[in-house]
Amino acid sequence: MAVYLESKCSRCRYTGSKLFLKGDRCDSPKCAFERRKYPPGEHGKNLSRARKSGYKERLVEKQKAKYIYGMCEKPFRNYMEKAKKQKGIAGENMLVILERRLDNLVYRAGFAASRPQARQMVSHRIIKLNGRRVSVPSILVKAGDEITIVDKYRTDKLKEEISERIKNRGIPAWIKSQDNWTVSVIDNPSDIAPAFDISRIVEYYSR
Ligand code: SF4
Repeated sequence: MAVYLESKCSRCRYTGSKLFLKGDRCDSPKCAFERRKYPPGEHGKNLSRARKSGYKERLVEKQKAKYIYGMCEKPFRNYMEKAKKQKGIAGENMLVILERRLDNLVYRAGFAASRPQARQMVSHRIIKLNGRRVSVPSILVKAGDEITIVDKYRTDKLKEEISERIKNRGIPAWIKSQDNWTVSVIDNPSDIAPAFDISRIVEYYSR
């Protein structure tokens, strides 16, 4: 399981991008990145003016993707190895693998405000995959799978929150919301617009 000791907001400030790791807070004026757009630490303001090397740029893109999907280095690297062995373009394959993670789907379906919350919902066994309660956020879902929230956690408040998220964020074309509590995966992930440069990440792992 990914354990990062620094705060979530520090990760946004380090990478220089909003990574949306704290749900509703990220869209509020309390967002630390909006208030302090420079890297964390005593010398952060000076570092923001420093020129980045090519290596640093590739490293930062890789870190962004890891933080967004809440992953540690080893499983992330394994995904990249898998993506390279598949047919087609390694970067696109990698994006498809990342998007197929169960915790990502729970977030995309609007069940959770952020991916860290989605991950927690899965590990607390609040989510069912094809009718069975699961606790592993890294399960890779496939077309035809169905994801649902366990009956006893279906509250009116959660229903309202899910509707609001679907309205604001929308849901990708490759998943279909049956009702507020269930989504079906109808296709492989497509039209993914990542907040990082996947080609830089492929370059990083091709050193
Ligand atoms: Fe990043 Fe969200 Fe924190 Fe803003 S509030 S710095 S987007 S985690």
